[in-house]
Amino acid sequence: MGCGLCQGVAGEARLRVEWDEQGAYRPHVLTDLDPPTQAAIRAVCPGLRMQLPAPVSRAAGGMNDLIFGHVERMVEAYAADPEIRFASSSGGILTALAVHLLETGCVQAVLNVAASPDHPARSISHVARDRAGALAAAGSRYGPAAPLLRLHELLDAGEPFAVVGKPCDIAAVRNLARRDPRVGRLVVALLTVMCGGQAEMPFIWELLARQGVTEDELESFRCRGNGCPGPTAFETRDGRRFAFTYDEAWGDSIHEWGLPFRCKICWDSQGEQADLMSFDSVAPEHVEGESEGFNTVLVRTSRGGGLFREAEAAGAVVVTRDVGLDALHQWQPHIVRRRQNALSRVTGTALRSGVLPNVDGYRLLRAARTGGLRGFAHNAVGAWKRAGRARESMPSR
Ligand SMILES: Cc1cc2nc3c(=O)[nH]c(=O)nc-3n(C[C@H](O)[C@H](O)[C@H](O)COP(=O)(O)OP(=O)(O)OC[C@H]3O[C@@H](n4cnc5c(N)ncnc54)[C@H](O)[C@@H]3O)c2cc1C
Repeated sequence: MGCGLCQGVAGEARLRVEWDEQGAYRPHVLTDLDPPTQAAIRAVCPGLRMQLPAPVSRAAGGMNDLIFGHVERMVEAYAADPEIRFASSSGGILTALAVHLLETGCVQAVLNVAASPDHPARSISHVARDRAGALAAAGSRYGPAAPLLRLHELLDAGEPFAVVGKPCDIAAVRNLARRDPRVGRLVVALLTVMCGGQAEMPFIWELLARQGVTEDELESFRCRGNGCPGPTAFETRDGRRFAFTYDEAWGDSIHEWGLPFRCKICWDSQGEQADLMSFDSVAPEHVEGESEGFNTVLVRTSRGGGLFREAEAAGAVVVTRDVGLDALHQWQPHIVRRRQNALSRVTGTALRSGVLPNVDGYRLLRAARTGGLRGFAHNAVGAWKRAGRARESMPSR
């Protein structure tokens, strides 16, 4: 999946997660890995294991939804600081929470992703230590990202920190917590986005190529932000500037992005292992002509609830209203469909590849029942075929 965690587990001298010419972060094994290291990697890899921990699935109170999981509280909100709200992807809640955690001394660092200084269309693992650092990482980056490449650096430093990442990144940190007690002691909050999947780099290269620009010429590249959703904007070192609306750049369906195969079979787009998630508020009144963004915030754990209440009380975030689960089903139909199809796709993939990931706790059978038998068969066969093609196109290393 390219999250970067296996590098920290095996050690950089033995395994490096590196950017390859196909535009993806992939693990490169440098020396023979002994069986315990291989087992440790398999145990933490979110590609193989996204397993809902019992305390999250069984938390008392709140609401439980078959598709979206356990929800303690769901509201519409935005960052009180206008600079944060403007620079961020939607309402700036994730950046506001990062700044709040840093400025109140709850954490010394926030692990997230930001544009690479050398190749701004690429994303690098980034550590924010203050407001400026958090702002530098604001905004969704839809291409490949390996936020966990620097996770072990923070664990080794022994200081409290928070992690912002996609649901798969968060699941990887939860996997590591089962083996490494430092995670439980030092990771103060796990924050995520609703994730329709990441765009493959060739999609971004093509976006640049249509304007006659190559990646090497870029001075800056943003997928969105600076308004909501804000322009997809890039600038070359020789001063050419380009800006596109969200629809012009990304199309009206996430399926046009060339999602990696693993994203298509993902069973946790809704980040059930996080403490809190923040995503687009696509309430009809915010979709047309809205330049000030709003987030829907979904609190999953009491730790996430405590953090959000403190940020609200401190005036870092502004809550506008409660949101119900019905709205979520309406606003995120692609996420609903993906969960309904997850079991069939994982099954089709497993039959073809022999790899059966751990999906415990995600209620996939019950979700599949709501999708119908025909849909199940169609998706299982589709995944079986695509798993074959995905395997053929994998690099041999
Ligand atoms: C790949 C991807 C797919 C998404 N799909 C959906 C969707 O289907 N539906 C929906 O409602 N919302 C989706 N979102 C979320 C949405 O784009 C916003 O990120 C979300 O609304 C959070 O807004 P914010 O203003 O609170 O974020 P901000 O305050 O701008 O903070 C965003 C944070 O996310 C981190 N981040 C950005 N990109 C990545 C990445 N690739 N990997 C790890 N961390 C990252 C940044 O470092 C930053 O800390 C997706 C986001 C991503 C990255």
